[in-house]
Amino acid sequence: MKKLIPIMIYAVFFLFLLPPFIYAEEDEQKVDQEKMALYKKTAAITQIPWYYLAAIDQFEENTQKETASDDLIAITIDQNRWFGIGNSIHNTSIAWVSLFSGFGQDGNGDNLADPTNDEDILYSMAHYIEKEGTSHRDIKIALWNYYKRDLSVQTIMNIAKVYKQFGTISLNKTDFPIPLQHNYSYKNTWGDARGFGGRRIHEGTDIFANYGVPVKSTTYGVVELKGWNRYGGWRIGIRDIYNRYHYYAHLNGYKDGLKVGDVVEPGDIIGSVGSTGYGPPGTAGKFPPHLHYGMYKDNGYSEWSFDPYPYLRKWERAARNR
Ligand SMILES: [Zn+2]
Repeated sequence: MKKLIPIMIYAVFFLFLLPPFIYAEEDEQKVDQEKMALYKKTAAITQIPWYYLAAIDQFEENTQKETASDDLIAITIDQNRWFGIGNSIHNTSIAWVSLFSGFGQDGNGDNLADPTNDEDILYSMAHYIEKEGTSHRDIKIALWNYYKRDLSVQTIMNIAKVYKQFGTISLNKTDFPIPLQHNYSYKNTWGDARGFGGRRIHEGTDIFANYGVPVKSTTYGVVELKGWNRYGGWRIGIRDIYNRYHYYAHLNGYKDGLKVGDVVEPGDIIGSVGSTGYGPPGTAGKFPPHLHYGMYKDNGYSEWSFDPYPYLRKWERAARNR
């Protein structure tokens, strides 16, 4: 009996501590699988590749507004648009909605265009795009007509590119931008007055490290910007799949061959630490070498910078525990 007690303690530990963690991950996987099944089903009917539908859904989920469906799909279509102008009683009969040229379609075959039904919502969006065509260019035009905003279209096309490349929406990996075996240091300097260049407040975290230390992408994403900026020096901008833009500045140089439009994943080397900036192209050495890391969030209407420090801490811990 005495020998059994430690075993029982272990058993209790496993029963009460491990399962919630495992269930959470299993839940997430299950939701992703259900979403994928719906994207692929809708893609098969409309010829709009699944990764565009998945990207639109992800983009809308990232805007974190309240969604019409409380189930899987985050895409939410304006009620007047869904039912059609003049269909003020909001009758969901498909005959009625199409009579008023509403956006809503019947995706699940129940003769209703239900604005809260996952299949109807996704099929309606795919149908709208399909009317423009099914090529990359057609889809881009349809998205512009729908969102009327360049950054929204750009973000969706980027997310689609990442999903297509990896063949999945389950992309949860992250990384710390500096390899942990190198010497580096950083502290929370959010909002501090800038040391150089005047009145702007400091929008980001400075990670001090030696010249030439590799800089890695922290997330999945697409290289959206690369080149010289008077303050940032040689810098690179990567937009991820969560409507966030990651800004890496003062680089010594870039990884050979890296170009705008490239898909990156966490851990991919994108450049190296330097001290470029605060002058015309090539200016360096006006301050100690460091990586300036900034993050920006877009909600579908406007973009703002936020403090990357807690994320860096989290990614650093995760990288250490791998
Ligand atoms: Zn900085």
